Amino acid sequence: MEQNVKKPISLSGIQPTGVMTLGNYIGAVKNWVTFQDECDCIYMIANLHAITVKQDPAALRKNTLEAFALILACGVDPEKSIAFIQSQVPQHAELSWVLNCYAQFGEMSRMTQFKDKSRKHADNINVGLFTYPILMAADILLYQADVVPVGVDQKQHVEIARDIAGRFNGLYGDVFKMPTPFIPKAGAKIMSLADPTKKMSKSDDNLNSFIAILEDKDSIIRKIKRSVTDSEALVAYREGKDGINNLMTIYSVVTGKSFEEIEREFEGKGYGDFKLAVGETVADYLAPVKDRFNALMGDKAYLESLAADGAEKASRLARRTLSKVYRKVGLL
Ligand code: ATP
Ligand code: MG
Repeated sequence: MEQNVKKPISLSGIQPTGVMTLGNYIGAVKNWVTFQDECDCIYMIANLHAITVKQDPAALRKNTLEAFALILACGVDPEKSIAFIQSQVPQHAELSWVLNCYAQFGEMSRMTQFKDKSRKHADNINVGLFTYPILMAADILLYQADVVPVGVDQKQHVEIARDIAGRFNGLYGDVFKMPTPFIPKAGAKIMSLADPTKKMSKSDDNLNSFIAILEDKDSIIRKIKRSVTDSEALVAYREGKDGINNLMTIYSVVTGKSFEEIEREFEGKGYGDFKLAVGETVADYLAPVKDRFNALMGDKAYLESLAADGAEKASRLARRTLSKVYRKVGLL
């Protein structure tokens, strides 16, 4: 890293609530990787966020280390960036408590993720699910992040982090940097293959609704073939064609082709041809990630040592912000 010239700080995270999907990759993680050249990057596996919905402890442990390996397999480079596991840096929980006291019940009640997840997990509407965005504000503000690369579903949470930061700075002076969300122009919201009006989510119970980054080629092709579209047999990006629009978006991001080029490529052809092309291209696109992941998982001790290193570096930065916050607030 160059001395003197201060690069912007990029911060983001992913929950170990399942295996990373094509949506997570296109909407967020792909940009984490490209940002490594322009920014000082800090990326984490958000396991504290994951327990806002029920988790089996053994599965959570396994998913957390695998998610860590997977972001490295996607190209997050621990030599360039700080990569760590959220629970290994205690300052996230500590700052989160303080910020809880500077966030208002009313504003938190408007968060759409809380409403969606409350509906989905009606038997476990815990307070952590409600205060999730405050923990996320702590994640961002601890590192004085300038930019937060996320999918569009997280835009509201970055905005609440800005509101909390602004309120806190108004009371105590410039303690927190004001973060800006970075949302990609294409692929900010990849839709479910089973219901293209809903976002693709790795925690979806319907395994046919998402493509996991580690899936094999046959399974990827089969899921795309089965994906819900329409009966028009016209490959065109138009209102009301949610399923086809979603596949065109995926194909466009993966191949770099524009929608017009794709429309021309599949003119006069049926959805069968189009879906097969999307499936094969996606599978080839993801294959190298899977190879790197398998290699990394072969040496767990090394992975754990990388995570410990990352946590140590992150904690050093986080401590600075947290001690300033404690001082300002009047905590001894
Ligand atoms: P969960 O269902 O457990 O919430 P998720 O798939 O939404 O899982 P998260 O860990 O919550 O994944 O989010 C990780 C990142 O991926 C966030 O930046 C989020 O905005 C982004 N993301 C999630 N789903 C999509 C999607 N369908 N399209 C684009 N980006 C997405
Ligand atoms: Mg999510």
